[in-house]
Amino acid sequence: YTKLRLILGDQLNASHSWYHDIHSQTDTLYVIAELHQEAAYVSHHIQKVCAFFAAMEQFAHALQQAGLHVLHLTLDDTVHYPDLPSLISALIEEYGIQHFEFQRPDEYRLYEQLHTLTLPQEVSCREYDSEHFLLPFSEIADAFPANKHLVMEHFYRRMRKRFDILMDGEKPLGGKWNYDKQNRNKLKAKDLAEIPQPLIFANPVTDIVKRLARHKVNTIGQLENQYSQSHEHILWPVNRRQAIELLDHFCRICLPLFGRFQDAMTDNSPHHWSLYHSRISFALNAKLLNPMQVIHTAIEHYQANQSDIDLAQIEGFVRQILGWREFIRGIYWGNMPHYAKTNGLGANRKLPDYFWTGNTNMACLKSAIDQSLEYAYAHHIQRLMVTGNFCLLTEIAPEQVDEWYLGIYIDAIEWVEMPNTRGMALYADNGILATKPYAASGNYINKMSDHCTGCHYDVKQKIGDNACPLNSLYWRFLDKHQSQLAKNPRTRMIYRSWDQLSNEQQQEVLDQANIYLNNIESL
Ligand code: FAD
Repeated sequence: YTKLRLILGDQLNASHSWYHDIHSQTDTLYVIAELHQEAAYVSHHIQKVCAFFAAMEQFAHALQQAGLHVLHLTLDDTVHYPDLPSLISALIEEYGIQHFEFQRPDEYRLYEQLHTLTLPQEVSCREYDSEHFLLPFSEIADAFPANKHLVMEHFYRRMRKRFDILMDGEKPLGGKWNYDKQNRNKLKAKDLAEIPQPLIFANPVTDIVKRLARHKVNTIGQLENQYSQSHEHILWPVNRRQAIELLDHFCRICLPLFGRFQDAMTDNSPHHWSLYHSRISFALNAKLLNPMQVIHTAIEHYQANQSDIDLAQIEGFVRQILGWREFIRGIYWGNMPHYAKTNGLGANRKLPDYFWTGNTNMACLKSAIDQSLEYAYAHHIQRLMVTGNFCLLTEIAPEQVDEWYLGIYIDAIEWVEMPNTRGMALYADNGILATKPYAASGNYINKMSDHCTGCHYDVKQKIGDNACPLNSLYWRFLDKHQSQLAKNPRTRMIYRSWDQLSNEQQQEVLDQANIYLNNIESL
């Protein structure tokens, strides 16, 4: 072989131009490798490692079937290489490689490694685009200047126009850009029985699990859940066919109510963990699915089923992919590496142990954590308004929050995890991403879920042993950051009800919050 091409675990894009002309590639060796550095840079959920390794294996196999030369290396094969550069150097030497090629990594960590490689002088090196995202990488520097606060909605509208998505000439389809106000309903008792059964797969992972054990890879979470009582299978899609099936299931079954119940949470359904969400984030982030393909598929379903799917549902879904996902990536690359150090609110408390066990009396937190441990998945509002809000109000150190999110979720890759965690959930980036902190009291949880009904704590109380901790913590947070937030037009009004309390009443609430903070491990 004269050419070595590296495929990273989240670069499983079969439509990449690398694979367009497979007949002229007899001298090219592709390498796809389970790396110890990737299994260990954080403690990952076991389903996450299994999903990535299984998907990589299937991708390698598919390329081989298509006639390409592919070296698929397992943890057994790479055990002697401490990191990616050392593996690449060894392969270059072993195969007498003259040209090394890679696709631009989406994570800064890997980007740095590949951009500082020291190769033998006679070996050329070439970087390709990953050919996945809709906004060209070359435009990020201009569109996302470092430290600049940007509004997602503006970006989203530009993307809608640029790609002519849900447009009626120059105007947005239906006359409005955003139909979010029609969404965000709570699930009522009558809705619970209608929650669809999720499409799940039974992908065998026995060999991978054995390998992880053999190499003492530290993982979190569990493989067992209501669908799989054994250590044998994962329910996530691990190849393009399954990913497309999942997308199709979403469009047919979930899209009609996607937006309406997007923010809802319940304990009272066997399908409480999946609801109407697409669960395609792993497939998207591993690049088994292309974002434009997802958008077009969903819009085709909308166009063919307008009696079932209204504009608010499809617009809400398109906004997540065309808007949020691309915006988040822009924020990440526009602000790295300093973004990883941001801690605008000076938070420094330790993440409580129950984030790894679910062992807490707070029903909302328990529900979100339990399901994360069980499925490596929680939907956006659970991540933002339950675990995220709790970490914001209790001032958990951002690097610990990052580590938890980066480990636990099936779709967690730093480029998308970090701006969501530091920016959206923790407001640690001083408002680069969000226009205000997403802080909420128990009232919000009660409005959007049925968690409060059976909770140990009373959501109606601010003070007393049984008062919902979120209430006093919320007012403490607002009180502490009043000088900053009272200036913000989006948060200014909240202070009216705080200001109506006497100084003594305010102090009681603040004291209650401090009791909870001092006993945070036993909440
Ligand atoms: P759906 O609700 O069905 O939405 C469809 C798709 O839209 C998602 O698959 C995703 O690709 C995209 N999307 C929606 N919101 C966002 C967003 N805020 N940022 C980026 N993409 C978005 N998403 C990840 O992919 N990886 C992460 O590590 C991750 N960490 C998060 C951490 C926090 C604190 C928060 C608040 C959000 C995080 N998100 C992350 C965003 C979002 O919660 C997930 O993308 C979503 O829950 C995945 O489930 P789904 O595929 O069922 O999404």
